[in-house]
Amino acid sequence: APTTLHYPYEVPRSAALFERAREVTPGGVNSPVRAFQAVGGTPRFLTAGAGPLVTDADGREYVDLVNSWGALLHGHAEPTVLAAVREAVERGTTFGAPTTGEVRLAEAIVGRVPAVERVRLVGSGTEATMSAIRLARGVTGRPAVVKFAGCYHGHVDALLASAGSGAMTLGLPEGAGVAAAQVADTIVVPFNDIEAVRAAFERHGERIACLVTEAVPANMGVVPPRPGFTAALAALCREYGALFVVDEVITGFRVGPGGWCELEGVEPDLLTFGKAMGGGLPAAAFGGRAELMDRLAPDGPVYQAGTLSGNPLATAAGLAALRLADDDLYARLDTAASSIADAASAALSAVGVAHRVQRAGNLFSVFFTGDEVTDRAAAGAQDTRAYAVFFHAMLARGVYLPPSAFEAWFVSGALDDAALARVHAALPAAAEVTA
Ligand code: PLP
Repeated sequence: APTTLHYPYEVPRSAALFERAREVTPGGVNSPVRAFQAVGGTPRFLTAGAGPLVTDADGREYVDLVNSWGALLHGHAEPTVLAAVREAVERGTTFGAPTTGEVRLAEAIVGRVPAVERVRLVGSGTEATMSAIRLARGVTGRPAVVKFAGCYHGHVDALLASAGSGAMTLGLPEGAGVAAAQVADTIVVPFNDIEAVRAAFERHGERIACLVTEAVPANMGVVPPRPGFTAALAALCREYGALFVVDEVITGFRVGPGGWCELEGVEPDLLTFGKAMGGGLPAAAFGGRAELMDRLAPDGPVYQAGTLSGNPLATAAGLAALRLADDDLYARLDTAASSIADAASAALSAVGVAHRVQRAGNLFSVFFTGDEVTDRAAAGAQDTRAYAVFFHAMLARGVYLPPSAFEAWFVSGALDDAALARVHAALPAAAEVTA
């Protein structure tokens, strides 16, 4: 395995901005993985995006395979989305009163996702899962929550236990800043292990308000559910009177118009959404059957609120993005994912680097390990050093991958032939450096 990281060029402007940022912002960033700690080197300060490309403060251009962590389905500065935001901004930025845009976006979600009859808009995925869990507890009158090791549902106290994403990337100690009482009712089980889930229900069934899972775990790298696993989770929840909560913050409107659960034919009790549904602005949501959602205030007793919830700019961007998500988009996402995943695998195989490309629909990631990754333990066993070398070799060749081995690679509908050709050109050389 390679031992030295290569930063073959300087990025003085990003370096200066990072130094300035560190003076006023913890770690210089507003979300931990952005700091490049896991891969080393200087985080790129991005100044502009256009379609499949982003430009950094030093004027370097990259094909973007992060797409704001999945928030951008159509790439950067998509003209229809921008026009919708421009049109909305002229009428005012926020009212804190009901608006037509909220109704339209809610209708768009209800119209696309079979399991959602009512939906409430919030500002972030964290709020969505936090609120869904509160509702599950409120409806069932039970305290406990079952979650999977390696799944990330935002920085909700109760769900930070054995979480993926930045918490896993940074190898943070469990529970700093989270009171023991806040996780006392969190039961953590290994993903893809239905026997472990069954055992948890046998032991704690009477106390379990809900089980929450990512539709496809993508915050420990992409770990597809085994065939039948999601349906078995739904059945266990039903058997024990617990709610089945599926977090589609990443997969919603990305793997298909109705999300992952529609593809699997599973109907959860509650679902959460974010990222793609905001069209690049802050919007997220949770929803489900009317009879459950109507237990929220003002009609029901479970409180949930937000000053900027359903913000007019965000609903305009989100609606525009969802309207553009037609069959043609999903075909393009699929083509781009296949093209990059296959080429990455071929390039790494050609130079004998042990790896697994794991994929669920158009979501995929590359693990630097020879073994199939079915859960957090296996994901954690990959060679993160090799990923760091590969990451920088790709960056130097103009391809911006997620700066952590525990994240999905996100494609967009803007990845045209020219952008894909750049990725294809970079992969063999980056693989060579990694070998
Ligand atoms: N759920 C999943 C599956 C996520 O991937 C994320 C964020 O990455 C969240 C929830 C939290 O969303 P947000 O970062 O908008 O709070």
